Amino acid sequence: MIQRTLSIVKPDGVRKGVIGQVVSRFEKAGIRIVAMQMRQLNRKDAEGFYAVHSERPFFGELCEFMTSGPVVVMVLEGEDVIALNRELMGATDPKKAAPGTIRADFADSIGENIAHGSDAPETAAVEIAWFFRGLDIVS
Ligand code: ATP
Ligand code: MG
Repeated sequence: MIQRTLSIVKPDGVRKGVIGQVVSRFEKAGIRIVAMQMRQLNRKDAEGFYAVHSERPFFGELCEFMTSGPVVVMVLEGEDVIALNRELMGATDPKKAAPGTIRADFADSIGENIAHGSDAPETAAVEIAWFFRGLDIVS
């Protein structure tokens, strides 16, 4: 099924200069990028986006990190792209991520793990709408 998902190159990915390498992996996997924007999140943006994690012990740290520098927010489109993107990213903890995945290759820690990807069709729809209006997404 053709799906859309939200991808974020997190502040550590921007700081390390790997935006291009992350995007390149998506393109090589046949994924289409249908929206893309660089932006600086503020505290409210980060807290709202990660609201599902508000009770987790790392929530404050996560929001601090996500506002620590600009991010690149993208809408990806393709066949089963939600699972495909998560496969390309690898496990949340880079130490557990399979070799050759984005997190295994570029990330330093479970907190600073280079990329975000929506985990289900419902969360993808909510997360895409959080950042983009319909008019901002090319068809
Ligand atoms: P993401 O939602 O960013 O794609 P994920 O779905 O693999 O990652 P989640 O469980 O949704 O992982 O956690 C969201 C984010 O919170 C993680 O990507 C990571 O940045 C941070 N995080 C998760 N677990 C921890 C932890 N134990 N300590 C610190 N930060 C964490
Ligand atoms: Mg998640």
